[in-house]
Amino acid sequence: MWNPPLLRSALLGLALLAPLTSQSADAGADALPLFDAHVHYSHDAVAQIGAEQVLALMRQAGLRRAMVSSSDDEGTQKLYRLAPDLIVPSLRPYRLRSDVSTWVRDAGIIDYLEQRLARHRYAAIGEFHLYGADADLPVPRRMIALSQQHQLILHAHSDIDAVERIFRQAPNATVLWAHSGFERPEAVREMLRKHPRLYADLAYRTDQADPEWTAVFMALPERFVVGTDTFTPERLYYIPDHARFSRQWLKALPAAVAERIGWRNGETLMASFWDARAAAGCAPGPSQAPEPNTALSASLQLRAKAGEGPGVGEPFGLQVIVCPRQAGARITSLSLEASMPEHQHGMNYRPRLSQSAFPSAGAGARRLEAEGLLFHMPGKWLIEVTVQGQDSQGQPWSKPERLRFVHTQR
Ligand SMILES: [Zn+2]
Repeated sequence: MWNPPLLRSALLGLALLAPLTSQSADAGADALPLFDAHVHYSHDAVAQIGAEQVLALMRQAGLRRAMVSSSDDEGTQKLYRLAPDLIVPSLRPYRLRSDVSTWVRDAGIIDYLEQRLARHRYAAIGEFHLYGADADLPVPRRMIALSQQHQLILHAHSDIDAVERIFRQAPNATVLWAHSGFERPEAVREMLRKHPRLYADLAYRTDQADPEWTAVFMALPERFVVGTDTFTPERLYYIPDHARFSRQWLKALPAAVAERIGWRNGETLMASFWDARAAAGCAPGPSQAPEPNTALSASLQLRAKAGEGPGVGEPFGLQVIVCPRQAGARITSLSLEASMPEHQHGMNYRPRLSQSAFPSAGAGARRLEAEGLLFHMPGKWLIEVTVQGQDSQGQPWSKPERLRFVHTQR
């Protein structure tokens, strides 16, 4: 089983939810795992195919995880409740399939999104269909603002013009470009170079083996993900075939590039936008962390370059998300200290820290991000997070809480 770059927080038992691998006989134990970024399980599919059967198809295909969005959201939630290890929920701005063509002028969509965001946790908003100047209409504008407020990926089925408009509105947005815009590889390369937070899915394309694509995959291997796109109920049965198709064309690439496009890029994206949120346990949900500390739940993740744990002497980042367990309470500040208790010394490098409220992990939650950290020697490292907060009356805590995470650097 692949171990994500997470610190198991043994001291307080604030364990993160580990994504389980889902290999099966069909895919073969040595088959390349896949992160499928583009699955829908919409109302007509829910009526025709049971959720268990959909999950069985995904496991048969050897998917490690799948990002799912559905019209309406119930299909996604059904799958997620049954398989939180496999399903990453994305919120589609459609209540019915027919919203696809009218949503950009329908203010009711924003109410729908806000209701869902208040109730469930998501990694992304989308997939939505948005073209040209429509991106600047009030409803899409409001949706893009919501994605920033809740720190969600935007999964955009869009032309180049609309992608440009999204980045003009939200320069810090992370956009997953559905179908790579059905653009030619050269145009996709240019957009990815121009926008460092743009990623591209290869769903519903058949030209991946073209030499033009190979050149782009080799140049920007960290920016592509695969996806089936089950836009009609029948296409859910196609998930295993699509996985075979993906493994087939990926096989022609160097193994490291194939792994990135097949699953590592998806996992790296999820490390930022989903894993900690899913494990933080602030909001109701199936993946609650254990509760050793009655006041707090927390998760911590390392972010190394290649999506693996950092090597000795290799700079890395991390994020900590801390949530209050008491209703109405709020985390107001976080600070971080790393040391080697057995050697009685700290880090040689001062990390750059930034923090902000993180409502998408739950009311009152806060996230601290650190860049430029470095473990300069192997051994046991202790990462201490000092948490200050206020109670439901707005009174600051009399003393800060301390969370301790242990990481063994090899
Ligand atoms: Zn789609």
